[in-house]
Amino acid sequence: MQSMQQTVYFDNNATSPIAPEVKDVMLPFFGNLYGNPSSMHAFGGQVAKFVDRAREEVAAFLNCSPEEVIFTSCATESDNSAIRGTADWFGKDLKVITTAVEHPAVLQPVRRLKALGFETVELPVNGVGQIDLDQLAAEIDSAKAANRPVLVSTMWANNETGTVFPIEKIAEICKARGAIFHTDAVQVAGKIPVDVKKVPVDMLAMSGHKFHAPKGIGIFYVRKGTKVKPFMLGGHQEGGRRAGTENVPYIIGLAKACELARLGMADEAKKLTALRDKLEAGILASCPNVRVNGDKAHRLPNTLNVSFEYIEGEAIAYRLSDIGICISTGSACASGSLDPSHVIRAMGVPFTAIHGSVRFSLSRYSTEAEVDYVLEKLPPIIKGLRDLSPFGPDKDVSTFK
Ligand code: PLP
Repeated sequence: MQSMQQTVYFDNNATSPIAPEVKDVMLPFFGNLYGNPSSMHAFGGQVAKFVDRAREEVAAFLNCSPEEVIFTSCATESDNSAIRGTADWFGKDLKVITTAVEHPAVLQPVRRLKALGFETVELPVNGVGQIDLDQLAAEIDSAKAANRPVLVSTMWANNETGTVFPIEKIAEICKARGAIFHTDAVQVAGKIPVDVKKVPVDMLAMSGHKFHAPKGIGIFYVRKGTKVKPFMLGGHQEGGRRAGTENVPYIIGLAKACELARLGMADEAKKLTALRDKLEAGILASCPNVRVNGDKAHRLPNTLNVSFEYIEGEAIAYRLSDIGICISTGSACASGSLDPSHVIRAMGVPFTAIHGSVRFSLSRYSTEAEVDYVLEKLPPIIKGLRDLSPFGPDKDVSTFK
């Protein structure tokens, strides 16, 4: 195959391209339709009607009522709103249970509560990244026995490995015990159906830029009657539950992304599974000493996390980047360290594989030709890095940590 000039973007769990349909519906709101939806005059009022319709579309996507949809600036804000807002309602009596593999948007606010004196628990995961449901139930029961309120916050699917939690069972366990349940559903948006009538979560977070809307717009679903105080205080927007003038163009774009996802999800999931499985099979066939991370039986259709033993994920990502292929590593290199990610570490991935973890994440725009291109370019890169590495199955690994 001839070298491709264009970018092969396999990093869609980090962010995804804006759908052209989404961009088109946003444009008028950067032009004449600039009114403030809270204004009393008709010029603003016409914009409010578009926001109302957008809210209905998001509600159709989640199968909830429009009053239960709050627009935020991002999923980080939605997660913080759920956790800080529940803590604000109940005070220090609240016990907060989360998992060791959450995104920092959940882990950091939970850890802040811990520093403030709240009881918090980070449930461990097994080798494929699943929690023990009996342990979850026991942690809720111990607080409920003392008549204390409990907030459970677990993700629906993991951003690094694609492992999907048994969210229906977690919701049932919470409901049966009277615990409040928040889920970070950022990575499932547009990939697997979300129906809050079937899965009785109390709160849920999503982010537009993970499913072809722009960055800077999030969804915070709050079931009617949930005890949570507003995180952002100020004006009366969003029914008094999230202050700040609405980001109208992005709300309109987000609603379009929800509509596209609702209509196209079933076909896209099939296509993505086939492409991802081809990529996975091709890598396993062409590269020795590779392991797939995550729960293959319960995994997002677009995500593949693999560890190439004895080499560094960053080196792989840089080499691929040089030829236009975009992927992510499992290391927290953005924070300036090369520590293995907390997710891969929590799963107990062997030390020979922990640094060599990389993530491929596809989208509706990914093609078979792109998969073939990666399968052509990757094996020689892996071999070259292995040849250079002082570590390996036939080499000394005593200093490899
Ligand atoms: N939760 C998960 C699982 C994510 O993957 C991300 C983004 O990577 C976030 C939360 C934060 O989303 P946002 O960028 O909208 O703040």
